[in-house]
Formats: sequence, C-alpha cells, structure tokens
Amino acid sequence: MSKQPSSFLSSKLEGRPKADGSGNGIFAQKPINEGELVAVFGGVVYEWDTFIHLPDRERSLCIQVEDRHFLVPRPIGEGDYVNHSCNPNAGLSGQIALVAMRDIRPGEEVCFDYAMSDTMPYDEFDCGCGQPTCRGRISGNDWQMPELQKKYAGFFAPHVQRKIDHLRAERRAFVREAREKTHGFATKIATPAPVYK
Ligand SMILES: [Zn+2]
Repeated sequence: MSKQPSSFLSSKLEGRPKADGSGNGIFAQKPINEGELVAVFGGVVYEWDTFIHLPDRERSLCIQVEDRHFLVPRPIGEGDYVNHSCNPNAGLSGQIALVAMRDIRPGEEVCFDYAMSDTMPYDEFDCGCGQPTCRGRISGNDWQMPELQKKYAGFFAPHVQRKIDHLRAERRAFVREAREKTHGFATKIATPAPVYK
C-alpha cells in the first residue's frame, strides 16, 4: 500500500511544529496569492455514528464534509496540520480544498476558521489563536453567527452554506408573516412571495 499522504499541500508551504510548542501547523515558504490553492484534504469518509468513536487524534485532524460525514486523513500528511484561527488567511473552496483569502507572506501560518466546515460538536475547544477577534470558545454552532456569515461569504463548505441559506429563508418568512399581521393582511389570500437572495 502506498505511503503517500491522502492530503495535498502546495509546494509553497511546509508542515512543521510551531515555535511555541503548541503543536504542528502549515507555514508559507513562498508568497501565496489571494485565491491560490493551498491544500486539498483527503482520506476515508465516516458517518457520524462511527466517526464519534474514533481516537481523539484522528477526529481532531479530520474535516466535516457533509451534515453527518467526516473525512479522516489516511495516512496523515503535512497538509492535515492546518489549524483554526478566528481571523484566518485561508478559506474553503468546496468541501475539501483550501484557498488563500488574501495574499500571504513567507513565514505566515496558514489557517482557516473551523466555522467554515463544522456544524457538529466533535471538536469544541478553547481557542488560543490570539487574534483580537478571537471567540474564546469554538463550537459546532459558530456558523450561525451573522458576523461570521458575512466575513466568510463564499468560503463556507457547501453543507454549511445550505444551512445558512435555510436559516435566512426562515428569518425572511418570519419577518414577512409579522409584517402581514401588523398591517392586517393576514386574512387576504396570500400569493407566494418571491424569495430574494
Ligand atoms: Zn481564536
């Protein structure tokens, strides 16, 4: 069996231990342009019921790719060391690809925000990213925060974006209903209202 890692890491980066001893990370070796592909995650897909019983280390290196599905790297490679930041320089393109959200300088650690992929409580932790916008505690519900939805527009995994779209549609329906009640239109025969994005 091949020993090649299941993930891909751009040759402009390397995975290595962080200087502060807090674990591994991926670092730019050369300048990376906004929009450039940084990494592609790979591995074995597990459904929630099986996934939740895997060892902690395997679970912490995985990425959630659907509502109840998780991609676990096998074998682990440098590209799997990407960390969370509350003010990241990379985001998701689809389910498994990581792209630069802005130009990245050599020496910078490349991170994404786990709110871009996570909707389940499998990897919740106290964050030490040190950014002014640090949320402190990272949970599987962070994608619901309106400020993050705005900040990361276009960088959420498709299954998270579907949830965001659903939540927004529900809010619009609620506001419409409240307005109709306020203005006494509730007794009128309703025609389907157009849905605006
Ligand atoms: Zn943080």
